[in-house]
Amino acid sequence: MNKSLRIFAPATVANLSCGFDILGCCMDNVGDEMVISLTPDPGVKITKIEGANLPLETHKNVAGVAVEAFLKEYNKDVGVTIEIFKRIKAGSGIGSSAASSAGAVWAVNHLLDNPFTPNQLVKFAMEGEKLASGNAHADNVAPALLGGFTLVRSYNPLDVVKLNTPKELMLTVIHPQIEVKTSDSRSVIKNNVSLKKAIQQWGNVGGFVAGLFTEDYDLIGRSLEDVIIEPLRSILIPEFNAVKKAAITNGALGCGISGSGPSIFAISKGQETANKVANAIREVYNKTGLEFDIHISKINNEGIKIINQ
Ligand code: ADP
Repeated sequence: MNKSLRIFAPATVANLSCGFDILGCCMDNVGDEMVISLTPDPGVKITKIEGANLPLETHKNVAGVAVEAFLKEYNKDVGVTIEIFKRIKAGSGIGSSAASSAGAVWAVNHLLDNPFTPNQLVKFAMEGEKLASGNAHADNVAPALLGGFTLVRSYNPLDVVKLNTPKELMLTVIHPQIEVKTSDSRSVIKNNVSLKKAIQQWGNVGGFVAGLFTEDYDLIGRSLEDVIIEPLRSILIPEFNAVKKAAITNGALGCGISGSGPSIFAISKGQETANKVANAIREVYNKTGLEFDIHISKINNEGIKIINQ
């Protein structure tokens, strides 16, 4: 029983301005690769990590923890080895840990002939997120597993919904090479929200979801507004306001913090605008002297992909 699978585990953009902890979408050309194999010896082993300095111990690596949660519920003796080829830097805000947890459980499920649906895999992958940030959030693992845009309607009970993906939407993401830990960026936000701000925020969430389904690009743009988290968190990201202004001036529908930062995402209609936005934000960041990467990506409606089997 030595079945093996090489997969692409995509990067994801969580929160999408108005949907803190509940909205996310999947990138197409940015992500890790993983090789997952079933072995005769029961237990989960991380046998190789390339491209990042991450723990090989199963219980310290999000991929190991997620697969252990999966196997606990699967309740049969299975051996799994995991190789991780990291391209997404940890702490980038584009779902580095989520790619590993979601990729690992998705591949094991596939190798075992899909005992669980992609929706059911979300809760196992969330155990990896709990290890990474102390909080079992699903806004990165859900879009990695289901593809496209996803909404976590409820955490308790867990209820994840896949939304529609308008064809022309494009992402531009800038990743400044500074590390902002999810745990740090969580500490700057407040637990209480005024009713006035809550009304604005849930209006935007509703508008955003409606915009995706009716493919109303202007409505999507108007709804990409965050009156609760962004004002507090953006201070951790150099030149956030200048990047946002450059993106919007150059035609982006909206722009905000990707996950817990430091990456910043912009959503545009069409490749041409996404390229223009990339050039404008590159100009802003060139002046900072900081290292950065810029990614331009379609929305990946499939999620995790098989590279070879
Ligand atoms: P991101 O938002 O990019 O996922 P986080 O700060 O949430 O970044 O998670 C990264 C943390 O998870 C780091 O502390 C890292 O050491 C830990 N971690 C454990 N296993 C992995 C893995 N396989 N991939 C990425 N991060 C991992």
